[in-house]
Amino acid sequence: MTTQPEQTLDRGETELDRRAALKALSAAMVVPATLAALGANATASEEGATRAAPPEIKLAPLPYANDALDGYLSAEILELHHDKHHAGYVKGLNDALAGLAEARTKSDFGRIKDLTRAVAFHGSGHILHALYWDSMSPKGGGEPGAELAKELERSFGSVDAFRKQFAAAAKNAEASGWGILAYEPLTDRCVVLAAESHQQMAVVGAIPLLVCDVWEHAYYLRYQNKRADYVDAFWTVANWEFAGRRLETAR
Ligand code: MN
Repeated sequence: MTTQPEQTLDRGETELDRRAALKALSAAMVVPATLAALGANATASEEGATRAAPPEIKLAPLPYANDALDGYLSAEILELHHDKHHAGYVKGLNDALAGLAEARTKSDFGRIKDLTRAVAFHGSGHILHALYWDSMSPKGGGEPGAELAKELERSFGSVDAFRKQFAAAAKNAEASGWGILAYEPLTDRCVVLAAESHQQMAVVGAIPLLVCDVWEHAYYLRYQNKRADYVDAFWTVANWEFAGRRLETAR
């Protein structure tokens, strides 16, 4: 059974804390059932889950200054995206988890369908945004490290073929969604996913390694309707080091 460490990622925390949090995130797949299970586990105690309060999920600060990616995304975009949009998913997730705890306490599961959907939507939204901030870095771009490159070649034929598939998936995700590089443990291969909304079109069990948000709020203020330009420029900030570390943890 997976344990659920604190989800805070304050700037002052140590690299070890950060790695522990990343490990927790890697365990949290972008699938509703898994996230719901994690929430349930986190609230469970020896006294019984029905009396346990849900853990408060906290919004970590951006891992860099608002203007650190200015060549790619403006400070205004990052601030709005993090402080308003990502914060909204954190609140939505906390509200849904509190609703589930209340339902368990009262043995009243009349709202279970709505609450479970809310956990899937806001929980996946929260996890993907947390991954998104780390998927970019002012020191990003260039080429993946040797181990990750080897894995991308094994799974996609070449790093370039991966880049093309990922970009096509992100550009073509219907309406609002994500381009996702994930590791799929059963086949022991990396896969590219094009999530719609946050939680749809996921592969159960696949562990996201690198993600690109293609909701309009992520790019519209600078790129307007040109999502393709935004996706193509993602490679200038792509945090290969982060993806490589997550692959290592996932395996
Ligand atoms: Mn977003």
